[in-house]
Amino acid sequence: MQVLKFGGTSVGSATRMKEVFQIITSDDQQKIVVLSAVSGTTNSLLGLVQLLSEKKPDQAVDHIDSLKRQYDQLVDELYHDQEIREQGQLFIAEKFEMLREFSRKKFDIADEKVIVAQGELISTQLFTWYLHQQNQEAILLPALDFMRIDKSSEPDEYYMKSMLEKELQLAGESPIYITQGYICRNAYGEIDNLKRGGSDYTATLIGQAIQANEIQIWTDIDGMHNNDPRVVDHTYPVKNLSYDEAAELAYFGAKILHPSCVLPAQKAGIPIRLKNTMDPKATGTTISKRKADGEITAIAAKDGIVAIKIKSGRMLNAYGFLKKIFEIFERYQTPVDMVTTSEVAVSLTIDETSQLSKILLDLRHFGQVEVDHGLSIICMVGNFTSDQRGYAAKIFSAFKEVPIRMISYGGSKYNVSVLVESQYKEQALRSVNKVLFDLS
Ligand code: ASP
Ligand code: MG
Repeated sequence: MQVLKFGGTSVGSATRMKEVFQIITSDDQQKIVVLSAVSGTTNSLLGLVQLLSEKKPDQAVDHIDSLKRQYDQLVDELYHDQEIREQGQLFIAEKFEMLREFSRKKFDIADEKVIVAQGELISTQLFTWYLHQQNQEAILLPALDFMRIDKSSEPDEYYMKSMLEKELQLAGESPIYITQGYICRNAYGEIDNLKRGGSDYTATLIGQAIQANEIQIWTDIDGMHNNDPRVVDHTYPVKNLSYDEAAELAYFGAKILHPSCVLPAQKAGIPIRLKNTMDPKATGTTISKRKADGEITAIAAKDGIVAIKIKSGRMLNAYGFLKKIFEIFERYQTPVDMVTTSEVAVSLTIDETSQLSKILLDLRHFGQVEVDHGLSIICMVGNFTSDQRGYAAKIFSAFKEVPIRMISYGGSKYNVSVLVESQYKEQALRSVNKVLFDLS
């Protein structure tokens, strides 16, 4: 069985949904198709949540009505069969009436998850009916019946595997199953989600659960590029990436993939293929166990980085100091990305800053603390085997004109990261590109 995931733009209109239909029916592999919400819908539903939490019911109703108009049009364009069209219209009317209900009652924080879940619930139902209209056998599997996270918001793999097996058995044989990306239940049985962009994660978790032979992630770009195409000319899709390289790139800015989604596929040894809905024949990128071969494969950049430096004489020749520092980040559930140390100071970076002031308050007990905002990490991914010479010289020669704030080399053999002020990011990306990839 295969798992195919289509993102918001791939189901963004009736025309796009029809293209997805062509893609999933172009061979007779049995498949589970995971869909995101129609592009823009999750943002719009979050906008609604905002209005409700600000107690603006009239604006909320206007907001709901304008989103509904988009769906009325989608239903019109999707179905020529009168009966199915009426069924679609009724479904949309009911869904949006349910959303209007929220504007009539007191807003509760738990409502947010229920509201944002509607995007995927709607797209999958409309698409399944489209398949039926085209006489394509397909069964809709409710993700809320088998996707679950535990008390620490981590996927409950054991539960998902056994529940999905049950669901598939109950549903019976079908060439195509459709399900919702992103949404799940939490340990208390409430509706929850896998965070923004989480549909990719749904796809690989399902792939792992059923031991799929392949996971395909379909978006609107032809794979993971070797550099940011918005900044650098003549980038190209990287044909093969290892799981580790892909995870680093996804984390450090390649927006095409949810960073957490690599791990389930890696654990199960299932290849992930990144494909382009607009150009289904393009090779795309394959992420697999590829034995890397001493090359630099790609560059990515991540903005919004904050650097924190803690200087303390107490660090000199002392042990246990770093542990205490890192415990503070653990306490405030803030992941640390880069770290460098000297005998009397430690510098590190974070990009999740909601707890920053509390973190700083606690850090000040340990020494003098300096904070820098507006930074970017330039991350070079490849296989920097330790016996190869010259990478560092090559990479750093590209930073001749760019002031470097911090360097991380050797943390993993897949990644060299350099921290710069964000104003230098584009210059750095272009100049690293020239040194590493420009063969002309
Ligand atoms: N619809 C969700 C979002 O926009 C999940 C996804 O598309 O992956 O974040
Ligand atoms: Mg996405």
